[in-house]
Amino acid sequence: MSSNHEVSRRGFLVGMAGVAGAALAVGATSPARGAANKPLYTPEQAFKWLKQGNRRWVNRNIRNVDHTPPEGDTTKGQWPFAAVLSCADSRVNPERVFDVQRANLFNVRNAGNIGTDGISIGSLEYSVAVLKVALVVVLGHSSCGAVSASQNTLRTGEYPGGDIDDVVNAILPAIEDLPKDQTLADGIWANAGYSARALRRSSIIAEAIDSGTLRVKYAMYDLKSRKATFA
Ligand SMILES: [Zn+2]
Repeated sequence: MSSNHEVSRRGFLVGMAGVAGAALAVGATSPARGAANKPLYTPEQAFKWLKQGNRRWVNRNIRNVDHTPPEGDTTKGQWPFAAVLSCADSRVNPERVFDVQRANLFNVRNAGNIGTDGISIGSLEYSVAVLKVALVVVLGHSSCGAVSASQNTLRTGEYPGGDIDDVVNAILPAIEDLPKDQTLADGIWANAGYSARALRRSSIIAEAIDSGTLRVKYAMYDLKSRKATFA
């Protein structure tokens, strides 16, 4: 990594700290926020909210629960409690899957919920370092076309074409060590786990995990049952 990159990275974080500072100032009147640097949410609380929300979604007891602090003005700041790296698939909408309001989840999406590229990792680092999310979830889903296409390339050596090949090449390392008769579900679980482990290699994310303010989990969303099952 070049020194220029280090400098620009530091500049990014300093700049972002300014944004966070503004958000903190806005939230300073919130009794929920407490001390300036104290995170609003714990990983346990965030995980509980996701599980409860998904249960409501499964039971069709939709309430669009808002976990933003009452004093939090979302025109001036944002206080998401979790970040979700999910597939771009049009059937997978994290706010619906976890039955929460806008501004509750920081979403990063791409075909195949890939967590190994700089843009995805950097986006999630921002949610951790600046917005202080307490939980990062990699959300795979049933019938994932990106994983299915990658399994097809693994079997046949043929690529879909265009830059879709980049998507396939990013997923291949996650599934190439699975048994030859791997099912689509096997591939989806392996891919989500691979992304979750890749995120832990980020020093920003690893430090937050080590300090106890963040947890990284992965899950599979089943389109039919609407249930998100965590690993
Ligand atoms: Zn997908």
